[in-house]
Amino acid sequence: MAEFSTQQLIDDIAQSLSPEQYDHAVGRSFAAFDALNEKIIAEKGVKLDCGAGCSVCCSLRVEVFAHEIFLLARHIRRHFSAEAISALLERLAGHAEKVLPLTVFEHATQNIICPLLQDGHCSVYAARPQCCRRHHSQDLAACVFTFDHPDDLEFPGAHDRDLFRALTGAMQENIDAYAELGFDHTIYELGTALEEALHDPASWKRWRAHEQAFLHASVTPTD
Ligand code: SF4
Ligand code: SF4
Repeated sequence: MAEFSTQQLIDDIAQSLSPEQYDHAVGRSFAAFDALNEKIIAEKGVKLDCGAGCSVCCSLRVEVFAHEIFLLARHIRRHFSAEAISALLERLAGHAEKVLPLTVFEHATQNIICPLLQDGHCSVYAARPQCCRRHHSQDLAACVFTFDHPDDLEFPGAHDRDLFRALTGAMQENIDAYAELGFDHTIYELGTALEEALHDPASWKRWRAHEQAFLHASVTPTD
């Protein structure tokens, strides 16, 4: 089975000073994560139903970390037109209005479409968070069943167990690296955290000061 090491990430974070350097560290860890994913798929001959334009799963709650959100926010500012950013901010406001009154369980049992999904495609594919990079299915019918029965949390996912376990382990190692270096490792919900990052530059300053980055986003408790 392929190995995943976070030593490079720890070194990259420790040497970072500018937003670009921090983003480079995240980008490099994403590349290592994707390589691990591809290696296991090839080694095990895993057959997936996933493909471009398949987006039933983009209505699940997406959990992210602050460093992923800042990478995403800068990617959006760099690559989206002014009109696209203003349309996204509107979708994010609508998303936050729906999500913020909900508990994590309530959110997980409703189909709330990701505000970054556009015309059936991820509008930030290259910068999507690890939670989305890990997600996969060997059976689209299982994804459709979950979409049609969002409150059935007992229905088994159709992921490859070894692949899912290895990627989850790699995600944990990644976040442990940030935690070890004193950075915020709160689990945030994607849309509400992104809205805050795009509206509030102080969120970056808080993150750099090793404080909780987002004060209004939906959070997944860890205990
Ligand atoms: S996880 Fe399911 S819905 Fe998502 S891309 Fe794969 S097959 Fe399609
Ligand atoms: S970030 Fe992209 S891949 Fe992830 S849920 Fe949103 S649209 Fe789907």
